[in-house]
Amino acid sequence: MNRKEASHRKMPKIVVKFGGSNLRSQQDIENVLTVIRNYQRPLVVVVSAFYGITDMLEEMLFKAQHDHTTIGANLDKLIGRKRDTIFSLIRDRDIQEETRALLDERIRALKRYLKGVNYIGEIPPFVSDMVMSFGERLSATIMTALLRDRGVACEEVTPEDIGLITDGGFGNAEVDFDASREAVAQRFSGEETAIVPGFYGISREGRVTLFGRGGSDYTAASIAACIGAGSLDIWKDVDGFQTADPKLVADTHGIHQLTYTEAAELAYFGAKILHPRTVEPLMAQRIPIRIFNIANVESVTTPYTIISANGTQKDDVIKSVSYSDDFCILKLEGPGVGNKPGILAKVTGEMDHKGINIKSVITSQTSINFLLGLKDLEPAHQAVLGMKLTAVQNIITESDLSVIAAVGEGLLEKHGIAVRMFGAVSKRGINMEIISVGASPVAAYFIVRQSDRNEAVRAIHAEFFNNPEVNHDTDKKHN
Ligand code: ASP
Ligand code: MG
Repeated sequence: MNRKEASHRKMPKIVVKFGGSNLRSQQDIENVLTVIRNYQRPLVVVVSAFYGITDMLEEMLFKAQHDHTTIGANLDKLIGRKRDTIFSLIRDRDIQEETRALLDERIRALKRYLKGVNYIGEIPPFVSDMVMSFGERLSATIMTALLRDRGVACEEVTPEDIGLITDGGFGNAEVDFDASREAVAQRFSGEETAIVPGFYGISREGRVTLFGRGGSDYTAASIAACIGAGSLDIWKDVDGFQTADPKLVADTHGIHQLTYTEAAELAYFGAKILHPRTVEPLMAQRIPIRIFNIANVESVTTPYTIISANGTQKDDVIKSVSYSDDFCILKLEGPGVGNKPGILAKVTGEMDHKGINIKSVITSQTSINFLLGLKDLEPAHQAVLGMKLTAVQNIITESDLSVIAAVGEGLLEKHGIAVRMFGAVSKRGINMEIISVGASPVAAYFIVRQSDRNEAVRAIHAEFFNNPEVNHDTDKKHN
């Protein structure tokens, strides 16, 4: 062992995550390999599926349910084109053969699941999670082979191998840290780089359980928490956090520092840089999250955005404005519904029972408003209809909405910030359906019709970032 390696021994490991957008073209893959080598130390690398593969798997799963003839063709589509590219990148014959065998085995397993789905004509949740996890399984095998081929000592380590244990909820599981911590720390205490497929963990019964779409960030964060990592490094194909989505607003600025809470709220309200749950496991241990842009493969020590406990408060507080179209409203109306405590408890209980996630509840004397994700609107509507609540006279659903949030430390303490924000929006004649301040100490949000979303984001950005120049060219693309 040379001196450099010896000194790395004492340093906590870094967990590094690459997403699907880093795994799109041959050049992307080369860039990822370069970055891993540039760290010059053993890493835990978490990978997503190659770009678009999870969507393809989902589609295949639904098709297989009713049509067995598409299974073979779809599998060819899944791996066919990639296979040639991959094998042309691997130079070592043995590694090539070994990888071919591993991939064939995975594809055969996948085919068996799809045939099973076709046979029974249904998609049980455990099969759905298993099938959807294949994108990450394939990419981890391939990336391990490519790294080995380039002389990096590494091995593929799956959540099954590690004992990354979850609460067992299919489709949207959480890590059971008490059950996982020791085994995970033990597994990654060695000197080799490990390549881990993201997106899923294993229930106590040994079943694959997904962490929800985009969940590889959460895999990486969970491992980082278990091993007490030096940092969680997330590589993107864009710069890190910005003052607003650059597709909507001209002249946004990069944000180089955010607190955990700020980053979590921005992610929750739609900023696509991080999965909203990434921050959760890391906050207590104060493990920093560092965001990098892979356009700069040399930047392994100079992240674009650092998320940590070290907060700064801006003079006019707001650091960024984000939006999400994945919000809708289920409104229960009736005189006095806001005053009858039993109703809220009953409805939330029923929604919990049905696996419906309530994003927020806002009540008044005459109405209870549940903010939900789009996919939960109809199931929630049906659930409430089925409850026959006598105090509720009208049940109304509203979609085509956007939630817009402004985020910054000090938002509640500093006077006038929320007023400025809402003032800037209403000055442009935009109607805000629901406003919420105070639920989070660092975020204020409101809901508008989707057609007003771009203008509302620009209004706030202009107000807080002295940027009256709005970019109207992009309207068509994003409305
Ligand atoms: N491949 C999964 C998805 O597309 C997980 C991830 O990318 O983080 O949702
Ligand atoms: Mg992704």
